[in-house]
Amino acid sequence: MSTHTASPAPTALEILQRVFGYESFRGDQAAIVETVRAGGNAVVLMPTGGGKSLCYQVPALLREGTAVVVSPLIALMQDQVDALLSVGVRAAFLNSTQDAQERERVEQAYLSGQLDLLYVAPERLSSGQTKRFLANGNVSLFAIDEAHCVSQWGHDFRPDYLALGELAELWPDVPRIALTATATEATHREIRERLRMEDAADFVSSFDRPNIQYRIVNKSEPRKQLLEFIRSEGQDQVGIVYALSRKTVEATAEFLRANGINALPYHAGLPTDVRAHTQARFLREDGIVIVATIAFGMGIDKPDVRFVAHIDLPKSIEGYYQETGRAGRDGEPSVAWLTYGLQDVVQQRRMIDESPGDAVHRRRLGQHLDAMLALCETVECRRVNLLAYFGQQGQPCGNCDVCITPPQVWDGTVPAQKLLSTIVRLQRERGQSFGAGHLIDILRGKTTPRTEKWGHETLATWGIGQDLSEAQWRGVVRQMLARGLLISQGEFGTMALSQSSAAVLSGGQPVPLRAEIARSLRGASSAARRGANADLEPRDLELFEELRAWRAGEAQEQGVPAYIVFGDATLREVAQTRPLDVSRLAGITGVGQKKLERYGEDLVDVVRAFLGR
Ligand code: ADP
Ligand code: ZN
Repeated sequence: MSTHTASPAPTALEILQRVFGYESFRGDQAAIVETVRAGGNAVVLMPTGGGKSLCYQVPALLREGTAVVVSPLIALMQDQVDALLSVGVRAAFLNSTQDAQERERVEQAYLSGQLDLLYVAPERLSSGQTKRFLANGNVSLFAIDEAHCVSQWGHDFRPDYLALGELAELWPDVPRIALTATATEATHREIRERLRMEDAADFVSSFDRPNIQYRIVNKSEPRKQLLEFIRSEGQDQVGIVYALSRKTVEATAEFLRANGINALPYHAGLPTDVRAHTQARFLREDGIVIVATIAFGMGIDKPDVRFVAHIDLPKSIEGYYQETGRAGRDGEPSVAWLTYGLQDVVQQRRMIDESPGDAVHRRRLGQHLDAMLALCETVECRRVNLLAYFGQQGQPCGNCDVCITPPQVWDGTVPAQKLLSTIVRLQRERGQSFGAGHLIDILRGKTTPRTEKWGHETLATWGIGQDLSEAQWRGVVRQMLARGLLISQGEFGTMALSQSSAAVLSGGQPVPLRAEIARSLRGASSAARRGANADLEPRDLELFEELRAWRAGEAQEQGVPAYIVFGDATLREVAQTRPLDVSRLAGITGVGQKKLERYGEDLVDVVRAFLGR
């Protein structure tokens, strides 16, 4: 697109509508765009899917010169540039994947002022050569994407980001905008300091992701539960399943495939080319489910991921929020599903006990786990709990399992005392300690080879817990562990009293517990599918599917992901409004000038052909 032609300079809103095809700015976007356009610096904390890209892309089109975008995600640069080219913005990138000739071409375009945006990898920008090269052209602004990479304490730390502070001295008059989806205070402070943005305007959005429905269910048979969940969401939905170990990843992917789900494994142990191929298929094909360790994620910018499932407990709320955040970037209804059980707690406590590092480090890991467990066991809105963790307030949301089906709370004080006194007796009378399974057998008076071998039928607490089922007992143990009323120790997860146990035993502390819900949440199932296409009549849905088929052909021909042609929201609106001439397409979201020219006739043809039948 050319910003140098027609006389009166376009406004930000005009650019948004004409180029990107969107009606209005969201949230802080307008204020951020205005700050940067006017030459000010900005630090932007916005959740995934919040619309960070437009915050620098629009000013890039309003200011004279080329916006330089620093992004660590080399694999994504091609898609980001393709998306911009598809709306007629002059964009290019410089990274190590190009040959000399290609680089030369991009450099020339930059120097002769023919680029609106230039994406570069951070390591490039720390070289003197690149800085001299940039100085020979005209930089309109610097956008520093994934700015949390500057934080040395975060897991995405990139040393090259530290050098970006220099930009402040080298280009004192060029505005800089730093963006991240990481919400913690500490990261925020580090970004301001290390990037020398002390004077920048701060824009901190709510980290709520209202389109994501949070669900946490009790683990019984995780694979079967997962399969049931995926089926309830609709067979051809795009999703990511996270597991902790490579072994679980492999086994789960195989299980899903055997059950007709198009699932692929992804973990750090697979050869690089296999991983690259899997990632490319996920980005470009419809309906693929990736089963992965957390190695999969950074750099996944697919907007239409409909669900993220965890079959193992994440180690922290930060991790959970970041991973679930990969669902629903496009704002359409999506689900974050987690199944978790007693074994997860025992296993993670053990991993922390065995982890290298000092006591302070282990204590921190323990605190992360405790916060995660509190989220799992909460009897209040999940979203309120999640936002509170990031220091933000929320209202009961109506879109999480707790809000939809409030859990029953019952008085678990007496069972808790029975369990604790069994542990105490075994310890005092026999000098023994055991894991949850055996303790539950004793409480329920269930004779097993082990109870016979140890003569546990003679314990005073033998069979005093027959009023609860085994599943209920596991719920009692799990919740007590989660709240620190009990601890698990060692390789076998044997149970022992904690500092808080005494108060429970003496009757000084009541133990309210969540009732176990045996079935996964049926009522809320298929929220993603229902939500997104709920307002489509059956006939509209047919047209929608035809439009999707047309889009798939178009994307394949151009070798780009389908969403670069049009997002689902656009096709849905076309299916509903059934425009019969090109002018009627103009107001539809995601249809800017360039796409109107390029695809307008095709879209109308699909609609006409459909109605003609
Ligand atoms: P982020 O980088 O914050 O994760 P993106 O910039 O990728 O988010 O935007 C997420 C999605 O929202 C994209 O599909 C984008 O086109 C869309 N979007 C962003 N801003 C708007 C807006 N003002 N109106 C409509 N859609 C928008
Ligand atoms: Zn809620």
